[in-house]
Amino acid sequence: MRFIKWSLGLIALLALSSYSLLMLPAVQDRLIDKVIRKNVDNSAAQALFNDDAMRLLVCGSGSPLPHKTRARPCLAVIAGGKFYVVDTGPGSWNQLALRRIPGERIGAILYTHFHSDHIGELGEFNMQTWVAGRPAPLPVYGPAGVERLVAGYREAYALDNGYRTAHHGAALLPPERGEMLAQRLELPADGHRVPAFEDGELKVSVFAVHHEPIEPAVGYRFDYKGRSLVISGDTRRDERMIAAAQGADVLAHEAQSQHLVARMQALAAEGGRPRIAKIFGDIPSYHTSPVEAAELANAAQVPLLLLYHLTPSPPNRIAERVFMRGVKEMRPRGVAVADDGTLITLPLAGGAPKVGRFDP
Ligand SMILES: [Zn+2]
Ligand SMILES: [Zn+2]
Repeated sequence: MRFIKWSLGLIALLALSSYSLLMLPAVQDRLIDKVIRKNVDNSAAQALFNDDAMRLLVCGSGSPLPHKTRARPCLAVIAGGKFYVVDTGPGSWNQLALRRIPGERIGAILYTHFHSDHIGELGEFNMQTWVAGRPAPLPVYGPAGVERLVAGYREAYALDNGYRTAHHGAALLPPERGEMLAQRLELPADGHRVPAFEDGELKVSVFAVHHEPIEPAVGYRFDYKGRSLVISGDTRRDERMIAAAQGADVLAHEAQSQHLVARMQALAAEGGRPRIAKIFGDIPSYHTSPVEAAELANAAQVPLLLLYHLTPSPPNRIAERVFMRGVKEMRPRGVAVADDGTLITLPLAGGAPKVGRFDP
């Protein structure tokens, strides 16, 4: 008994003394320096740019619906020392900045279409990568409409760009490098995949998808040194995805649980929210279910299907089980559900795609 009393007393004393230590400014400063040093060090993120793999980092796995941790759609393809961002949904720059991705390495931004959940942060991406030291204007690719998007963001950020050059000097922030270059991609009428652009050994191609009434809407394929990945963008189940993904290592496909959306519609109507119920009733027609995405991945014989743009994004494991109902029966292996921070690695030496996380 006496021993227990002594031990408890000792623990209380230690807790009290470490608490009082934490109150000392010198100790606080040492701890703060430790945190700042960790935040300044971006060596882990720089290592993602080693030319031993093509990589896909998820910077937004969510949907337009609110979510505590997921940003709206954003995928970063890392190849040849640069990263290429497909869609910049609200919250997505934060996901890259938290992981200390070197903004100056951005190669281009590519848009699948111009819904607000995909375009929300173009201004932030352009400004942040310019401030990080991007050596040239930022190319922004997309189907017809990309010129309007770029012109609008350019105007919206014109004052901010001016402030920054005035404050930090043109030597650090030359205004001409802060510009964006709209690159409109033309699509053939037959819906076939066509080259979009090349950067060194990276080849990017573009294909039309079905997201009516939104037109044009596109998906992209990235090929780099024998590895390849395909990004669906927003689309209903589209057979053309099979041809686009043939021979690819990864198909990153949007996914919407029609079962959950139907429940949301019914319960919104029941709860006296007719406007939301109407919207939930409209959206199934232009998205793909997880089972349909699995079916397409099987038909294309893609080793890995990565589901992203999850509508609604499952908040926990049980919700994820509901979201994924029927997928295992369709495709027992080779399916991953994206989260913000999911990292897919495709080693250039060959081998199966590796699914992991990047949280330095
Ligand atoms: Zn969307
Ligand atoms: Zn959309």
